[in-house]
Amino acid sequence: RAKETGNNRFLFYTREMNASVEDKLLLLEGLRNAVEQQQFSLLYQPKVDLRSGRIFGVEALIRWHHPEHGMISPLRFIGLAEESGLIVAIGDWVLRTACRQNMAWRAAGLAPISMSVNVSPRQFEELRLVERVALALEDSKLPADALELEVTESLIMRDLAQSVGKMGELKAMGISLSIDDFGTGYSSLSALKSFPISSLKIDKSFVSELADNLDDQAIAMAVISLGHKLNLRVIAEGVETEQQRDFLRSNDCDEMQGYLFSRPLPPDEVATLLQAQGWPAINTPVTLDACD
Ligand code: C2E
Ligand code: MG
Ligand code: MG
Ligand code: MG
Repeated sequence: RAKETGNNRFLFYTREMNASVEDKLLLLEGLRNAVEQQQFSLLYQPKVDLRSGRIFGVEALIRWHHPEHGMISPLRFIGLAEESGLIVAIGDWVLRTACRQNMAWRAAGLAPISMSVNVSPRQFEELRLVERVALALEDSKLPADALELEVTESLIMRDLAQSVGKMGELKAMGISLSIDDFGTGYSSLSALKSFPISSLKIDKSFVSELADNLDDQAIAMAVISLGHKLNLRVIAEGVETEQQRDFLRSNDCDEMQGYLFSRPLPPDEVATLLQAQGWPAINTPVTLDACD
């Protein structure tokens, strides 16, 4: 039966499905190739200040361009990359590329913005993470305070003491840390107090029905006030409508990210948006060479 559908089967693999061993092996082989053959790229989604409406940063989001199957979403492959350990190599590439891209925008005379990079559990727990981050900064010459790492509550809670220690090292280097998908994982409030983080990201599952779901409104308001009491900035992800934005703004949320303002974009379109905000004209190319 597998022959009937052949290679296309892995296209339909999602985290929610119980992929067969065979499907997984196909995907894994494809992923190994992808690392060797540089089939990845990064898109960058603007993060916007809710009061000024200005872009202050972007989040790097990986895409896999499969030679036969086209674009494959990270939701389809990050889990397996994590399980197989390939995430360490992939994540390192993401970090280096994102830092260099941020420097390329700066070198072109665009506004200095921050770069957020997602870090998955295995990558975070890897012994050389701090060293890898330091190298990515050194090689790109990007100042540490322009880099933010997004981690999840479940990642931190896997080994709380060790995570807090590592986050502390990163913070001491000048890097910011943010909790992604906040509210979907489990972390006690007392643990939250000990995280050396600078922002909380309200998960998009609480944002999608914000306009008319009273429970989601209560959760969003609670996260905003909790964050502010802990001296953290609060950002909402997955903002798609003006009603959602208005609710968040009137409840004092600091920042937003979502399709309402912009989808994840290639580097030159980020540059265009920054210029449209009145930043100086570009004088050098903002796209990195495809070969590195
Ligand atoms: P995330 O870090 O929570 O990223 C937010 C996801 O929501 C992204 O999906 C983004 O494209 C999507 N999104 C943004 N605005 C909206 C909106 O208004 N509505 C909706 N419905 N979705 C929106 P994407 O790019 O498919 O990434 C999915 C997840 O894959 C990310 O969730 C992150 O956990 C993971 N991921 C992506 N890139 C990387 C990476 O470089 N490294 C690691 N470790 N994980 C990554
Ligand atoms: Mg994220
Ligand atoms: Mg998120
Ligand atoms: Mg999310």
